[in-house]
Amino acid sequence: MAPRQSSGMSQEAHTFRERVFAFAFVFWYNILMEQTLTAKLKLDVPACDRQILLDTMDVYRAACNCVSEYIFKTRILSRVHIHDVLYHEIRSRFGLRSQMAESVILTVIARYRTILTNQKRWIRPSFKKPQVDLVWNRDYSLPGDRSLFSVNTVRGRIRVPFFAKGVCLDGRFGTARLVCRHGKFFLHVPVTKDIDVLRMDDVTNVVGVDRGIRFLAASYDSGGKTTFFDGAAVKQRRAHYKDLRRQLQQVGTPSSRRRLKAIGQRENRWMRDVNHQVSKALTEQNPEGTMFVIEDLKGVRAATERVRTRARYVSVSWAYYDLEQKLTYKALKNRQLVVKADPAYTSQSCPKCGHTERTNRDKRRHLFCCRCCGYSSNDDRIAAMNLHRMGIDMLVPDAVAEEYTPQQG
Ligand SMILES: [Zn+2]
Repeated sequence: MAPRQSSGMSQEAHTFRERVFAFAFVFWYNILMEQTLTAKLKLDVPACDRQILLDTMDVYRAACNCVSEYIFKTRILSRVHIHDVLYHEIRSRFGLRSQMAESVILTVIARYRTILTNQKRWIRPSFKKPQVDLVWNRDYSLPGDRSLFSVNTVRGRIRVPFFAKGVCLDGRFGTARLVCRHGKFFLHVPVTKDIDVLRMDDVTNVVGVDRGIRFLAASYDSGGKTTFFDGAAVKQRRAHYKDLRRQLQQVGTPSSRRRLKAIGQRENRWMRDVNHQVSKALTEQNPEGTMFVIEDLKGVRAATERVRTRARYVSVSWAYYDLEQKLTYKALKNRQLVVKADPAYTSQSCPKCGHTERTNRDKRRHLFCCRCCGYSSNDDRIAAMNLHRMGIDMLVPDAVAEEYTPQQG
């Protein structure tokens, strides 16, 4: 091998190594300690209490709109100020109890804050859907044997049973939201738990997970096992939705726009469900003590390599991010860990010798063949193997220097 080539190779290997290091350092300290999940509980409301809940939602909504109007006029978001001006009016005009009057003010302020953060300007929110925000231990509680919620309403407290099957309610409760959808009542309760976080020192299995299009995901574990999650069905279904969308866009009537929106929502729901299944399989098929290594797709490089048009990048990256979130929270529950690694070169680097070169990979034939050591494999595995290897390097940083020393001759 010519010396010039050799030194060029060494430099590339060096950059690759530094990236691994930088990420290892960040994620060592960036471990979550608590986890909040929203439990969506279906309530079993006795017939006699349904109207009470509906009335409460109506009144609450009207009060929210009243506060919203005041804030929009004055542009004042101080809780103390709004309380001083509107509290008594809310109570007398809407007949709300003191705690609920407070909750109304907090709900509207929170909504304005969200709008100002996201839209950067004053937009007046209107509260259309029937709902009530309930503060834990003030507007709702779970007394005694925890089989019934005690909920504050415009007519005092009522007891509401709920369907508890398959629901885990261990943890600290946050502000819940009572909603009514299609005639059924639900209580969305944020439950925060302290998680016994898996420390890097206790990792016993490392799994590299590469997210792609031909395969939804490919994983490679410490036992050398590769698992593919087939993406063909997903690709087909996506194409189907794309066709539908294109047809409707051409029509361009108000009703076709409505259908377009509905189809978009259906597609998102379905994609979320696919991600749920993939993340479930990954966390269940791997033992406690597993560390998953995924690509950090904040950098666009890896994604643009695979995805050409801008629109497609947006939809795909949304789905990736969703999978990442689902994998992360399922892993935490399972005493597993998810870390992210820089995706640069994951599909061009040799997982055996570290040699990085674009021509290592033959995209058309889906074949990876290392120009340096000759190692060859299906190219969908390679990124997963490299992520696995980067994970090992995070756990044992000293191993890196030795492994990546370019070979002479
Ligand atoms: Zn090699």
